[in-house]
Amino acid sequence: MKKRFKGALHLHTTFSDGEYTPEELKDHFQKRGFQFLMMSDHAEALDPEKMTEYVARCRALSDESFCMAPGLEFAYADPMGPGSGSLHLLGYGVDRYEREENPLDMVHTIHRLGGLAVLAHPYPPHYPVIAPMEKFLDGIELWNTKYNGRFAPALWNYALLKETRGVHPEVFGFYGTDFHWKTQYCEMGIWVEAESLTPSALLTALSGGKFYAERKGTVFTPEGALTPDQEARFGKVEQAYQLWKKIVKGGKQPFRMLHLPVPKRLKAMARKVL
Ligand SMILES: [Zn+2]
Ligand SMILES: [Zn+2]
Repeated sequence: MKKRFKGALHLHTTFSDGEYTPEELKDHFQKRGFQFLMMSDHAEALDPEKMTEYVARCRALSDESFCMAPGLEFAYADPMGPGSGSLHLLGYGVDRYEREENPLDMVHTIHRLGGLAVLAHPYPPHYPVIAPMEKFLDGIELWNTKYNGRFAPALWNYALLKETRGVHPEVFGFYGTDFHWKTQYCEMGIWVEAESLTPSALLTALSGGKFYAERKGTVFTPEGALTPDQEARFGKVEQAYQLWKKIVKGGKQPFRMLHLPVPKRLKAMARKVL
């Protein structure tokens, strides 16, 4: 019989640029009622040897009441030429270290390693690189609460998923916490209907769309359906959020120009709101 489990997707630890060790991360989330974590430390910070340790640590933290599934996030710098920004691809469930030169090859390798390939925080200017990958993806992040903020997802991601699912309905919308900092927002819960609390059962359920995200009592579906009211509201929040991001960036600029560290209080303030 299938059971329902609550977890979070897209998390970083001290194995890359996260503030918590895997042990601390488990503690943080378990206390808040989460039963599983789909990990995604940056591949660029690991190598095959570190990966072995990472996987062992994740497994040692997993039992019948909690599952920490290893996984990686792969970065592709400037896929559209210099200054075009980095494209990130999540490999949920991969437990071996392999790295490909381009994101499309990486999608296939993630599958060969038994993982799920999910496009992280899509960036509209990358569309020409994303388009040929679309049909091979398992998912597209509709809402990354670090990247898009906690108040609303990016509507462009929904448009991308809609277009993709029009041709490939097996691609689903994912919801990631992209957890790095101890004080970061982490209330996006993913409810999965799976056979057991193990990486393979959770991956099967996620790839089959047997899940939904829940935030403050509102449900978000893997099909990416939004009501007209949500769409209108999210559009407004997104605009306000972009403006705030610009202001924060502007605030950090003078420190960067003078090669001074950005004051902790300014950073903390930005993180609190975002
Ligand atoms: Zn990322
Ligand atoms: Zn990330």
